[in-house]
Amino acid sequence: MSSVLKQLVEELKAGRLKVVDLTQPLHPGTPVIHLPAQFEASPGFTLRTICRYDQAGPAWYWNAVAMGEHTGTHFDAPVHWITGKDRPDNTCATIPARRFIGPACVIDLVDEVAADPDFLLKPAHIERWEADHGVIASGSWVLLWTGWSKRQDPKAFLNEAEDGPHSPGLAPEAVSMLAHERDVLGVGVETIGTDAGQAAGFDPPFPCHHIMHGAGKLGLASLCHLDQLPPAGAIVIAAPLKIVDGSGSPVRVLAIVPTEAH
Ligand code: MN
Repeated sequence: MSSVLKQLVEELKAGRLKVVDLTQPLHPGTPVIHLPAQFEASPGFTLRTICRYDQAGPAWYWNAVAMGEHTGTHFDAPVHWITGKDRPDNTCATIPARRFIGPACVIDLVDEVAADPDFLLKPAHIERWEADHGVIASGSWVLLWTGWSKRQDPKAFLNEAEDGPHSPGLAPEAVSMLAHERDVLGVGVETIGTDAGQAAGFDPPFPCHHIMHGAGKLGLASLCHLDQLPPAGAIVIAAPLKIVDGSGSPVRVLAIVPTEAH
């Protein structure tokens, strides 16, 4: 047996490593993104009980579920965006499984976002993180710890106004830097989508989708419990359902985290 895997099992058993669940509960109240009226809406989560130890099935319980692919804590595949439509291995079923696991760089933006819900990550914030923790390694997940998941009321979570939603995200220059200069695996956020609420008006519009997916990168949205991750040193596992031709999928996102410095 690989000594590393043996050690992983031992460290988990001894509690020196813990598993942190970065996933929001999925239920009919899970908020979904609201698009302008001219576009088709994505349905939220529904659950229909087939039977529950009753006449329809006396000894068993199961449900039928339905939802848009991009509901709750979910995964964005490159094919989700028009810029990524011709990338190789760009769907949920064809992305190599190796890419469902990677080290996590967690950027603390809690104070900035508390002061400004439209806060945007810029290259200077990435460089600030790198000054403390080293240059972001290729194949890393970059996770924006904004505290946004604390907004459990869907109204506060979506934070919509007459001029559209107000939620944090990434400036186009920061997306470009992460995709092209750092070659990250993808970006993960606590908000409903990887782009900022006002990103329809950016250049390019929705840069985290446009640039990231155009470069074959991945996305994670509606994460939580990022406060339990160290800035560096955790590993994130995020594997979408193997939906053939899928553009995304609800996902259970797990982090393996040291409980203290070892
Ligand atoms: Mn999505």
